[in-house]
This record gives sequence, C-alpha cells and structure tokens, in this order.
Amino acid sequence: MHISLSEIDPKNRIYCNRSLNMRNIKAVGFDMDYTLALYKPEEFEVLAYQETLKKLVSAGYPETVLGFTFDITHMIRGLAIDKHRGNIIKLDRHRYVKVAYHGFKELTREERRSLYDASLAQSYEEPDYALIDTLFTLADAYLFAQLIDLRNKNPDKIRKTPLEIYRDVRHSIDLCHRDGSIKLKVAKNPGKYIKRDPLLKDTLERLRQSGRKIFVVTNSLWDYTHVVMNYIFGNDTQNLTLDWVQNFDVIVTGAAKPSFFMSPNPLYEVDPQSGLLRNTDGVLSPDSKIYQGGNFKQLHERLGISSGPEILYVGDHIYGDILRSKKELGWRTMLVINELEAELEALLKFKDEFKRYEELLQIKDDLDDEIQKLQLELEKTSTEATKGNASKSSTVQSLTQKRDSTREALRRSMRKYHQNFHGTWGQLMKTGHQNSRFAAQVENYACLYTSQLTNLLNYSPNFSFRSARDFMPHDFVHD
Ligand SMILES: [Mg+2]
Repeated sequence: MHISLSEIDPKNRIYCNRSLNMRNIKAVGFDMDYTLALYKPEEFEVLAYQETLKKLVSAGYPETVLGFTFDITHMIRGLAIDKHRGNIIKLDRHRYVKVAYHGFKELTREERRSLYDASLAQSYEEPDYALIDTLFTLADAYLFAQLIDLRNKNPDKIRKTPLEIYRDVRHSIDLCHRDGSIKLKVAKNPGKYIKRDPLLKDTLERLRQSGRKIFVVTNSLWDYTHVVMNYIFGNDTQNLTLDWVQNFDVIVTGAAKPSFFMSPNPLYEVDPQSGLLRNTDGVLSPDSKIYQGGNFKQLHERLGISSGPEILYVGDHIYGDILRSKKELGWRTMLVINELEAELEALLKFKDEFKRYEELLQIKDDLDDEIQKLQLELEKTSTEATKGNASKSSTVQSLTQKRDSTREALRRSMRKYHQNFHGTWGQLMKTGHQNSRFAAQVENYACLYTSQLTNLLNYSPNFSFRSARDFMPHDFVHD
C-alpha cells in the first residue's frame, strides 16, 4: 500500500531533518514519560506544582504561596531561565534574546538590549541559565516567575536572591519527583493523569512484525514504569499484570539518561514479580529482559546490534534522549513534540495573515533597495552640487520616512502574527522570522520529529524518510 504524504493530515505527519531509510533500522527504542506515556498536563503538571508549593512552605516560604495557581499554558519549551536576574528569555538560533520578562513584566527593547548585549557572546546555558526543554520543567519557569513577582512586591517576605529562589524551586520539584509525592498519586489513579492512545499497541506491533526489536530506555524506576505501562496498554491498574512486557524485547528502567549513552553504570536485572534487583556482574542472561541501569554497550549486545545507526530512538527530551544518543553513538533519533499539533494548526489557520506580513516585508525590502541605490548615486556625485542631487536627497528623505513607518507596521504585524501562536512567547519554532533556539536544536539533533509516536502508523515500517534539500542564500542565484 502506498500512501502519498499529502494524504496524511499535517498534524499526523513525521517531519524529516536528516534522511532516514527505515530498512537500515534493526531496533526501535522508546523513552516512557511524555513519549510512550502522554500525560495530561492540566492534571499531572498541576499536581507536581501543588506538591512543590507545599515543599516551599516547609522550606520557609510564606504561606501566601499556597494560594498560587499554575497557568500551564503560560510557559513554552525552549525558554531559558536567567537565574541571576530573575528573568525568563526566548532566544533565536543565533542566541539573540528576542523576548524577555522579569517575573511577569515584559522588558522593553532597550532594557533587553542593555542586559543581553550580543557582543558578550553568552551561551545562555547552565550554570547561570536553565533551559526549559521538557514539559516537566514548564512548572519551574512559572513558579520562578511567580516568586520573583512576589519578592518584588514584598521584599520583606522573601529575602532571597533570584538564584536562591531558582535553587529552592528546582530542589523542591526534584524532591516531589523523588519522594513519591507525585508518583504515589499517579499510581493510585493513573487515568486521571495519563492519556491512553488506542493506537499505541498497533504501532509497536507493526514494527515488531516487520522484524524490528523493540525496547524501552526510561529513567523511571521499575515500580512506576510497571504502573504506567499497565495503564497505557489498557490494563486495570488495580491488578497489575506483566502482559505489557510482551510488547518489548528489552526494558531498561532507571537508565540515568543521558549518562546511559556515555558512562559505564552498574547493571541490574529486575525481578518483575518482586521488583527486587539482582546483580549481573555485567553478564546478560538471555532469559531476562528487564533491567535497571547499565549503559548502551550492554543494550547493543542484548539486542544484537553492531552499530549505532541501526537504532532509531524515540524520545521527547532533546538533552536527555536525543542529543547524546545521536552525538556519541550515532543512533538515529525521533523527537516527539506534543506542541507541534497546535503549532501546525495555527500555521494553517493564519496563513493569509502570514502572506500579508510577507508582502509588507517585500515592500520594506524594496524601499531599502531604492534608498540604498539613490544614496550610492548621491555619494558618487557629491562633489558636484547639482540640481538633480537636491531632488534625489528629498526623494531619499521621503522614502526613508516611508520605509521607517513600514518597518514599524512590520514589527506590529509580526508581533500580532506571533500572538496567534502564543500570547506571550509567540511561535514555538520561530523568534521574529528567525528559527528559535529550540527549532535549531530540533534541526541539529532530531533526524525526525513528530507530534506523537503513533504517527509512525501512517508510514510503512520500511519507509524511506527524505529531508528537504539544504539551501544557502547563494543557491538562489540562478532563480
Ligand atoms: Mg520523557
């Protein structure tokens, strides 16, 4: 059966940065959280957020924070937290800061430019900046902004620096993920927090039938993995069974990615009945397929894989899942970007507005060209003060006025267009008309990207994904 790509709904397509022929792939692996298991952020992230508020109050923050609420739509992936200044920023692919907020107060163009001087060539990375690169960390950014706001309004209530506030937020959220505050609640009622995708089983089944080995590498530990997998494969979680294990050839829990892709960590076998760990001394028994820890070498061996590019790994976290596995091991990668669905919807819905913006851009560019041409002519003849020069000068003046007002209109129209995507931060994949830093990372590290992994079902297991041809500005010389 041949499906033409144009027949697939754009929201359910797989987009290709780097050509990938599935015939060369012998094993397909998956991350669990936000990849195999899609959470309902309005429940799951709010739970994490509320538990974190309690931790902050125990750590000495005023009780007023218990009244905070979390607008889960306010922050987006790809933002960075400026830990020292108490700001949240959005960068383009050249690392220019294009949007910046102090708490929830937008910085003016001038404030932004004086703080984030492009000539300083900052990397905007740890330890001074924190990247919001998973859906789990949207709460970090939101809570940080709320506390910065509270501190600015009541300096007596929070006598801490932005850096100390950031550390408290991170530590408290981390604690919730580790001490069971979140996991126990999810385990009790997974349906409240996790979506079930009815296509999941078929997607994996079809890959297996095509001869691929299927594996999981998750940082979650066995007990939590077991509950989540039971739920997403349609089981009653009051009576956990091991049926879901049959969908996979190897399951690695507690993997400590990205370290899994680089360092030799101790490997344990997990006894699925008791959840107890058995030391393996690095020796893999062919009878067992559930592990904790270890690293890629043991996984390759267990799967019978001789080289990295025979693996396609699907995950949602650029840093944890995609960057190292591709860079260090040559694994082929697919990034799951849930937000892509809404981004594509807006792209299609506002395409006329985008066209009008481009027309305006063209008018501005033409004016620029005309002005430059006249100025060049004026410079050439500047020594002869002729009548023609005087009239050219006044033309330049009036064209410049027109260009400036067009530029202002362009700026307004760009801002308005971006607000169709997100009122505060604009389009996920763009800043202005440049690619955002997030988009640049997707382009660099994800061979493929898509809104959800079950979109694989729209393609044959032997499909050859082709990237668009690369272009540089000089390639258009013959147009
Ligand atoms: Mg994940």
